[in-house]
Amino acid sequence: MSRAPYMVTLIPGDGIGPEVVAATVRVLTATGIPFEWETQPAGATAIGEFGTPLPPQLLESIRRNKLALKGPTETPVATGHRSVNVELRKQLDLYANLRPVESLPGVKSRYEGVDLVVVRENTEDLYSGLEHVVVPGVVESIKIITEKASTRIARFAFDYARAHSRKKITAVHKANIMKLSDGLFLDCCRKIAKEYAEVVYEEAIVDSTCMQLVLDPDRFDVLLLENLYGDIVSDLTAGLVGGLGMAPGANIGLSVALFEAVHGSAPDIAGKNLANPIALILSGALMLDHLGEQDAATRVRRAVRAVLADGRKLTRDLGGTAGTTEIAEAIAGKVQAG
Ligand code: NAD
Repeated sequence: MSRAPYMVTLIPGDGIGPEVVAATVRVLTATGIPFEWETQPAGATAIGEFGTPLPPQLLESIRRNKLALKGPTETPVATGHRSVNVELRKQLDLYANLRPVESLPGVKSRYEGVDLVVVRENTEDLYSGLEHVVVPGVVESIKIITEKASTRIARFAFDYARAHSRKKITAVHKANIMKLSDGLFLDCCRKIAKEYAEVVYEEAIVDSTCMQLVLDPDRFDVLLLENLYGDIVSDLTAGLVGGLGMAPGANIGLSVALFEAVHGSAPDIAGKNLANPIALILSGALMLDHLGEQDAATRVRRAVRAVLADGRKLTRDLGGTAGTTEIAEAIAGKVQAG
């Protein structure tokens, strides 16, 4: 008897999005797990067709399927529409952003053996979009930190550490300056930490954490951060393992999960078959983890490692000349071979 397919909302997005999304669909299909993809435009691409970067049918599709795979979407700087990502995370209450950072074979970087996890709060902080002009020449951006969201993200991080045998959680903050907001975040982390005696809990100031990550990333295990610090530290940690082309991510809520890479729409290389699809392919492996399809997830990760270790098929960002589609074919071939 054939299995019922997993219904997934597929968001190609902007720039290199459609290319890396097609590559990921190719690899996930090669696992043999049945998927049915419901394609929905978002971002700048959707504005032309629907007059909005976040059409209501996209939200309906994700709410129905409870699962989405997303390419990056463009956000204009300092003007124009609000970020589709911020809106999606808020509207679907995707409160936890999970970003594992791992060294991969054959990828030139400053360190070997990096194995970190970034857990970022995804719904509040300075990303609440509360900005206004007080008087001309003076603007105010409001940072919102709540007990509810801080407790929820802390619990997510500790549950993750417990489930994945992680030893230590570092809560990253600037509570020496933002005593009330970051102070509340730390209070919530401390309360939750008491329930998980087997996980070491420590705290570190965000600026010093950035320096220590560059000096000695092995010192950390799971990093637990508010939204803005998490955004910045995610890109920093991606840099430790060879750049944005290697950094996968998951946005997880109580009922919905959305998988996307850390990188953006890379307009400079869009439409040229130059994008590295590995970050989104590894995000696809996180989706397989989420579905409990452990064997398929392991096959995808093994195939990525094998293609990278072989070194003959690499995209330009990794020093090679292979195109997005060639990498996808090479990885899909290894997934099929098991
Ligand atoms: P970016 O991540 O798009 O690009 C930064 C640099 O990294 C560029 O040189 C790009 O070519 C390179 N790069 C990124 N991904 C790559 C890949 N897979 N393979 C090879 N090279 C890659 O960041 P940006 O230029 O700051 O942002 C561009 C647009 O993307 C903006 O509109 C921004 O708002 C948006 N953005 C979207 C998301 C998202 O949808 N999740 C995340 C970040 C940025």
